[in-house]
Amino acid sequence: MSEIEKNTTDNNEEVVSRNFIEQIIDKDLSEGKYKEIVTRFPPEPNGYLHIGHAKSIILNSGLAEEYKGTFNLRFDDTNPTKEKSEFVDSILEDVKWLGADFGDKIYYASDYFDAMYEGAIKLIKKGKAYVCDLTADEIREYRGTLKEPGKESPYRNRSVEENLDLFERMKNGEFADGTKVLRAKIDMASPNMNMRDPVIYRIARMSHHRTGDKWCIYPMYDFAHPIEDAVEGVTHSICTLEFEDHRPLYDWVVKELEFEFPPKQIEFAKLYLQNVITGKRYIKKLVEDGVVDGWDDPRLVSISALRRKGVTPEAIRMFIELSGISKANSVSDMAMLEYCIREDLKMKAPRMMAVLDPIKLVIDNYPEGESELLEVENNQENEELGSRQVSFSKELYIERDDFMEEPPKKYFRLFPGNEVRLKNAYFVTCTDFVKDADGKVVEVHCTYDPATKSGSGFEGRKVKGTIHWVDAATCVDATVRLYENLIKEGEEVLNEDYSNLNPDSLKELKNCKLEAAFAGTKKGERFQFLRNGFFCTDMKDSTEDNLVFNRIVSLKSSYKPNK
Ligand code: ATP
Ligand code: MG
Repeated sequence: MSEIEKNTTDNNEEVVSRNFIEQIIDKDLSEGKYKEIVTRFPPEPNGYLHIGHAKSIILNSGLAEEYKGTFNLRFDDTNPTKEKSEFVDSILEDVKWLGADFGDKIYYASDYFDAMYEGAIKLIKKGKAYVCDLTADEIREYRGTLKEPGKESPYRNRSVEENLDLFERMKNGEFADGTKVLRAKIDMASPNMNMRDPVIYRIARMSHHRTGDKWCIYPMYDFAHPIEDAVEGVTHSICTLEFEDHRPLYDWVVKELEFEFPPKQIEFAKLYLQNVITGKRYIKKLVEDGVVDGWDDPRLVSISALRRKGVTPEAIRMFIELSGISKANSVSDMAMLEYCIREDLKMKAPRMMAVLDPIKLVIDNYPEGESELLEVENNQENEELGSRQVSFSKELYIERDDFMEEPPKKYFRLFPGNEVRLKNAYFVTCTDFVKDADGKVVEVHCTYDPATKSGSGFEGRKVKGTIHWVDAATCVDATVRLYENLIKEGEEVLNEDYSNLNPDSLKELKNCKLEAAFAGTKKGERFQFLRNGFFCTDMKDSTEDNLVFNRIVSLKSSYKPNK
């Protein structure tokens, strides 16, 4: 990874700890195995990318960058049933957005169907592949079990000529789907089941999104993938742990096809998130069952959902780097991603005032019909963001829960008789409140002390509570969406029947009041709402006249990085 841990020893030498993949690459380079490093990200276009894929993208593109090599984006589109152009488009958008540099060429595995066909012929000629007429069930039966060796197919010893003839006729469409397959001739007694004469080609009359009806035979993944890598000159083919048992077959294919610089497969542990749905299949099911509002529903961790919610690519990178590259499976915490989002946005986002659950605050001794403009810094920690003017007048909105009629101990906000600071403005003392017929508080009254104006250097007395507010005369309306985990708190996986779906995973607040500076906010702009979190205008639903904000993350953190 590009993020390298640096430790300084007593004599100030830098000790750089390299992850296990970098160590393998360093060794390969020092032994002269490869001249230039080539990595790839090979998504199957059968869904949208998620945070786990981001790990693979950032790892592979990061290595290419670190070693001044090349990173290829390759659509692994050898399986025509499930692939859709919609997915190709979304994947391209996501990889670009993450900032991975894949140059100006996009690769497609289907461009190598000819090379794969040639490879199969080569194997047949070497006596290393044969056409088999067993049914799928028979092949399974003949394969044996982990405890027992398999049985050889009666078709295993067909002559090279007969195999060449039958394979060509498979290609020409002379046989029905599923009636014949091409198998690699390896070892039916191998302790590794993947090596027991695996199927490498099948007959399937399916239209392909790029090659149309040109082919009625399609290569299997384990045969196709090493060829794709080798043809592109990939040196290190980095995949996830479930392919570890397939590595001997990968090595067999590149060896038997006699590639000059055979690529090397390296496995690492997938990224999992505690209590969060990550697998492509599972996300797809939520989308198809209408549990969420499409692949970019901000409650998901697909890349498009994270982007729509307002998460930055920088925060995702920081998270991937913090979570590290390992050979051992582990589960990362969503709180760590949220920590990265806060770290990334705290300096970048202007801090403004927005009231999510408004209640009116009337300042009885403020002159009727008057108003003033207060100069307010946009971000106290980042002067570069400048300042703005915020209007103040007799009627404001404050958060409903910043007032209590009968406060508990340690409640320092507004209650009858108590004085608080209005952020960036004055001290006010609560004098009264008004209830409606149902006993709900609808208005709070107070008086202000003109001597306490923020920035005036007032030092007469201190107050314990500071609350935010907006000017009722100039504020703008907005809808704000708050998100929680899709799975009910305390439960780890979502039940098949969705019985433990969190009913509060989306809360839509329709009547929020935002300070005037929010007027005209464009799609995708990010802010800190003081005391309420980081928010971003929704990329789909927000318009300049009808603002819709997503909460990216609240300000409270349960995660502590080990420094
Ligand atoms: P899923 O596991 O969600 O179904 P997939 O592995 O089927 O995804 P592919 O399109 O085949 O999706 O994956 C493209 C690349 O992304 C592969 O190299 C795969 O190993 C990697 N990848 C997929 N999920 C993760 C993950 N959770 N963490 C890291 N890498 C992943
Ligand atoms: Mg897959």
